Amino acid sequence: MTFYLRPMQRFDFVVIGGGIFGCYAALYLAGKGARVALLEKEARLFQKASLVNQARLHSGYHYPRSIATAALSDEHKERFTAEHRRFVNFTFEKYYAIDRFGSFTDPLQFERFCRYLNIPCERIFEHNLFNFNRLEALYRTEEYSFDPVLLREFYSEKVEKTPGISVFKNTIVDSATADNKAWSLKIKNSGPGVPELRSLETATVINATYAATNAVNRLFGVDDIALTHEISEIAFIASPRFAAKGLTVMDGPFGSIMPYGLSGLLSLSSVAYTHHKISYDNLPRFDCQTADDPRCRPEAPGICTDCPRRPESNAYKMLAQMRQYFSESVRFQHLFSYYTIKSKLKASYIDDGRPTEISMLRAEPRFYCLFAGKINSIYEVEKIV
Ligand SMILES: Cc1cc2nc3c(=O)[nH]c(=O)nc-3n(C[C@H](O)[C@H](O)[C@H](O)COP(=O)(O)OP(=O)(O)OC[C@H]3O[C@@H](n4cnc5c(N)ncnc54)[C@H](O)[C@@H]3O)c2cc1C
Repeated sequence: MTFYLRPMQRFDFVVIGGGIFGCYAALYLAGKGARVALLEKEARLFQKASLVNQARLHSGYHYPRSIATAALSDEHKERFTAEHRRFVNFTFEKYYAIDRFGSFTDPLQFERFCRYLNIPCERIFEHNLFNFNRLEALYRTEEYSFDPVLLREFYSEKVEKTPGISVFKNTIVDSATADNKAWSLKIKNSGPGVPELRSLETATVINATYAATNAVNRLFGVDDIALTHEISEIAFIASPRFAAKGLTVMDGPFGSIMPYGLSGLLSLSSVAYTHHKISYDNLPRFDCQTADDPRCRPEAPGICTDCPRRPESNAYKMLAQMRQYFSESVRFQHLFSYYTIKSKLKASYIDDGRPTEISMLRAEPRFYCLFAGKINSIYEVEKIV
């Protein structure tokens, strides 16, 4: 196979992964005067977890069994909200509820927990949209939703226009070698066509590839972080009577309907049906990946929504579960679903927390692994510099 080699380009930082964490890292570093290369495997930025998620700006309600997790979950929330106001839905009615059957929490515990965290929660005893035969308790709460599509537009434009950032789309690292001071990378296009090798040199690499974290760590000869991966479905639904509202039912048999930012759509997820397949391997290894399809491999996961072998939708099961919590007059319609790989730290099974972890896995030259928990923790990258 023919390779074309271009002259070496030098950068202060190479950030791998063009989701919200990689984009924010590149912008932050360029803002400090650094020259940054941002590498993204796909043709567009924000095609994976940063687009396919439930868009919840966590306030803590989600974790009634762990005060510590709840308190940490809204770290940076105020700053994120203040700096992204145009992309946040502040105006919907948000309810949390406790299922009469099989819940791990109860009204006394939940109310105490909200008081302790100082987050608003008003118990409601009557409401014509909900089924109180099934709900043990219903609360009006305060929670916001960010808009992933608007965030994608904002960050994509900003990284392209910021002097100091060079964006390489359809690009992956082919090989990496290190001397004491610098990384030498060969990068190549990930799409079809003749591979064109380019050489980059940098003192610092930041791996922000989420589901592909360990694949990239291995390319750079550093240790894995312990992860599990799930192929997850976010179903998009509409409801004339339940428009601009959200309901999350806790805790255990979780189910949740949330406005998807400012789009007018509602997103639907459920602990039992959102996650179709699980991989306990450090790489996202699934039986739907085939040797003859290079678009998705454990070493280079692809875009699940675009995949012909994505799982069949569980939307009707999620809706059947959630319908029990509503009065009969409330109807929902499934419009479409997005799929992606959700990756979690293995340790998070203990408290269901989703911390963002930044580890320096090599000092000279530097290699940082940035594994993202929640969108509002993008600022954690500032600790690197
Ligand atoms: C189903 C689901 C629901 C969620 N709900 C919420 C929620 O309600 N609230 C919340 O705050 N968080 C939520 N999260 C978590 C949140 O979405 C993630 O923490 C965050 O989006 C991760 O951002 P990222 O930039 O690290 O990853 P991604 O957005 O996945 O970006 C990683 C990028 O790296 C690229 N890449 C991969 N390999 C390579 C390579 N070799 N070379 C170059 N590029 C590569 C990928 O193509 C991708 O663009 C949810 C996540 C999921 C999956």
